[in-house]
Amino acid sequence: MGKVYKKLKESFLKDPLTKESTNHYKVSRALLVYSTFAILVLWPLGAIILLRGNAFGLAIALFFSGLQGPFLIGYAFAHTALKQWWRWFVLASGGLGILLFSLIDAVNLDIDGFFELLILGIAGPAIGHTMITTIVGPLIFGRVLCRWGCWRAMVLERLPIGKGSGRRKGVWVWMPLVGISISLIAAVLFALTSKGIRTESFWSVAFGIAVYYVVSIAMALYLQDQRAFCKYLCPAGFILHWTSRSALLHVSGDAEMCTDCNVCTEVCPMDIPVARRVKSGTSISKGDCILCQRCVESCPIGVLKTIFKK
Ligand code: SF4
Ligand code: SF4
Repeated sequence: MGKVYKKLKESFLKDPLTKESTNHYKVSRALLVYSTFAILVLWPLGAIILLRGNAFGLAIALFFSGLQGPFLIGYAFAHTALKQWWRWFVLASGGLGILLFSLIDAVNLDIDGFFELLILGIAGPAIGHTMITTIVGPLIFGRVLCRWGCWRAMVLERLPIGKGSGRRKGVWVWMPLVGISISLIAAVLFALTSKGIRTESFWSVAFGIAVYYVVSIAMALYLQDQRAFCKYLCPAGFILHWTSRSALLHVSGDAEMCTDCNVCTEVCPMDIPVARRVKSGTSISKGDCILCQRCVESCPIGVLKTIFKK
């Protein structure tokens, strides 16, 4: 009984990836700027759309995205032991917003939905969503959505497994190409069978979402890596790898201060050799950083910070 209680307490109080970390109570200004934006812009906008009564799904999405504001403030000031939960609340509110929008308005917001609209030459929510979250937004904010608003990640991050044992080589190197190709082929097939008119139903969108969940959870369990799908197969991840390479918002470290203890590398869920890059003065991200803040929180002497490039 005592052992079970201890295990439960540990899983609640310790991040499965970082295990233990040092809390410097450093509050990222970039995160607080977004919190303010979420509270002051997204909620009022959602309320206006709801009152006009013409886009219930979008209003719900804005309400949940706005919830990220207070949760981010909670995360910023929480004790280390509870940070993982605040971080997950932010992720889940963003992820649920997108998920509910997709289901309520029956729209496929994923990359295959985006490609399908492009092929058909039709404007639609998937175009705006992909432009903001995957193509233009990441030029400024990097892969922030992958960690703070993805509906797949909100489930993957609660799986009782860790972060894997490093980037896989061999056939896995080509998997991102496979992911984006499957997306393109699916889009072409949808477009060919739609006869020029895009028809989606709740059930077709729900089926697509279920396929993504089954594949991403199966990959995570098979590779014992919460972020396996994000690293190897996510079609959005394939594009984000390129669009976020030189993002203005990024993690930066002071090579002079760094003691090369490697803690940051050990906790990184995306297998980024953070310590080596800090020491060599190269970009930490290179298209893979999801701005999860684990390295920032775990560095024992507070070398790392999340900043906008000057
Ligand atoms: S480099 Fe740091 S912020 Fe980026 S994914 Fe790795 S641990 Fe997270
Ligand atoms: S955790 Fe901090 S001190 Fe240790 S290697 Fe990383 S940046 Fe350097």
